[in-house]
Formats: sequence, C-alpha cells, structure tokens
Amino acid sequence: MNFSESEVERFRRELPAWFDVHKRDLPWRQTRDPYAIWVSETMLQQTRVAAALPYYERFLARFPDFTTLAAAAETELLALWAGLGYYYRARNMQKAARLMNAAGEFPATHERLRALPGIGDYTAAAIASIAFNLPHAVVDGNVLRVLSRVAADGTDIASTAGRKRFSKLAGALLDTNQPGNFNQAMMELGATVCLPKNPHCLVCPISSLCRARQTGTQTQFPVKLSKQASVEESRTLLWIERDSQILAWQRPPDSSLMAGFWELPECDHLAPLSPTNKIGSFRHGITFHNYSFDVVEANPPEHLGRCVWLHTVEISALPVSTIFKKASRIVHKYRNRATLASRAASGRY
Ligand code: SF4
Repeated sequence: MNFSESEVERFRRELPAWFDVHKRDLPWRQTRDPYAIWVSETMLQQTRVAAALPYYERFLARFPDFTTLAAAAETELLALWAGLGYYYRARNMQKAARLMNAAGEFPATHERLRALPGIGDYTAAAIASIAFNLPHAVVDGNVLRVLSRVAADGTDIASTAGRKRFSKLAGALLDTNQPGNFNQAMMELGATVCLPKNPHCLVCPISSLCRARQTGTQTQFPVKLSKQASVEESRTLLWIERDSQILAWQRPPDSSLMAGFWELPECDHLAPLSPTNKIGSFRHGITFHNYSFDVVEANPPEHLGRCVWLHTVEISALPVSTIFKKASRIVHKYRNRATLASRAASGRY
C-alpha cells in the first residue's frame, strides 16, 4: 500500500465525517436490522437505488422477517420481485431464509453469512459490518473505482489479481472502529462523487490523498480489460387473444433463467402460424444481450403446444417476465390509440 500511516488516519477521519453530512437519506440507513440490510443489499446488486426503493418498502411490508419470507409461496415472492430482474436473487433469498428459519436465527458472522445461498463476499461483508459492526471491508464496483483512483493503480479490476489487490487495499484502509459507517462512506463516495466519467474531485473529501487527482489521471482509472462485447438480437413475440384470455407459456422449474415465469410465445413455439398484424416494437437488454422485440397479433392456433390460455384478470397475480409486461403495455397503448381513432372517425368527439 502506498499510503503512510498518517494518510490512512486522515482517510479514516475525513471520509466518514463527509458521509455523516452528505449521505443520502435512504430507508435501509435507518436500521441495524440485519434482515432489512440483507434485503437492501440483495436488491441493490445489479439494480439502481431509485429502482430498488419501492420494492424494498413493499418487500419488507409483506415479508418483515426471515420467517415470513421462508413461508411465502414462490409465486407471490416472484410476483413481488417482478420488474427488479435477476430473479435468482429472490429465490436464493428464500432458500437462505428457510435455512435461517431452521436454525432459528439470523447468522451473525461473515463466515456463516457467506455460507448461505446468494450471499457472496460483498453482501456478507456489508451485512457483517453494517449490522454487526464486524471488521470486513466491502468491495463493489463503486469501491473498486475509488480505490483504483486513490492509489492510481492500473491493475485490471476484472482480473483475479485485481480483485485480490484491491480487497487487500480496502482492508488496509478500513476503520475497524466503525467498519459499517466506513464501508458505507466508501460506497457513497463512489456512487455520488467519484463517478465513472466525471468525478467531482473539487468536492471530494479525500482529494488531497488521491494519487490520480494529484497527477490529473482520474479518468484513466479503473482499468478494466476483459469487457464482454454486446450481442444484438431480433425476436418476434406473438400476442394471441381470445375471450379475454392470452396465450402464454411458463418456464419450467429447472430453467436456468427465470424459472416459473410466464412468457409470450414466439413463432417456433406454435409453428406453423402466420402473424396477422404488427402492433409495435421495444428494446430490452439482459446482461450483454440487446434484444429488439416485435409484437405481432396472430389468430389462435390449432395446436397449443406448450402454451395455455391465461385469463387477463389472473395475470397480475402471476410472475410474468418484464418482456411480457413491456409487450402488454405496447398492446394496450396500441388499442387505446385505435379506440380514439375510431371514436374520432365516427364523430363522437
Ligand atoms: Fe475520485 Fe476525484 Fe476523489 Fe480521487 S479526488 S477519489 S478521482 S472524486
């Protein structure tokens, strides 16, 4: 580590002092309940704060502790999670909640947390430090960016060597007297000040300690070499409706992706079938895949294949994919426009 003892001390003093004044007022910062912190940390993996907020409130209102989560029907759990994406997170939470329920307590050490499904190094360190005040440094994307800049360290953050190196630095800087507060301050700095493209160095509480700032090289860090190229893909979804029922199919329970979720059929589910009318299009990104979906109407097929008819009133209580929801919104907008146009044509306005 290329920081002197006095610099480390300043780090530990100035960063939490800044956090106390400038931290965002977020509901999971009002609690030390490890369960609530676990819920927030799980939701915030791959999800922005603004998007996670309403889900966090709803989730805790419905499942206030691991016992209620353990006893929930999976259908209800997934319906509550629908829209947040990465549904394995909800499933893993329920598996972990059942283990906690069997043990009769929430695990209170990093090691025991780390042993649960869905809890990796980052989440275990976050819960252990914030809820139990244990000295474990968190290392997420924001923290990696801050660390690589303050140390002006060009090690690839996506490499195993980079992970090890920055974890070691995070541990060396951590204030073990207030690990939860210090960890949250590091993450907050990365989320609100040390931004990827335009770091706000002028208001940064640790700018005088930052090696990249001293050399004007902030935007050269972090270094990330192994970036996956994105893949473009065009697909067609079928909207087939009859007597207020929609034709849909359910992903099997052993599906590696979104098991149990309902989807709209595509042509190869119901071949031979001729679409009758294009309703609209939308885009949807999943990890490095960029999909472009056309939504087309088609007549009910002779053979349903793996599809079944779902009544429109029951759909809202079922776990349906975000793609299904986006397609439904396109269809409803299309129908509203058609209704308005027909009223205008018949002189009813
Ligand atoms: Fe990031 Fe700038 Fe602060 Fe360095 S001085 S940690 S680059 S915001």
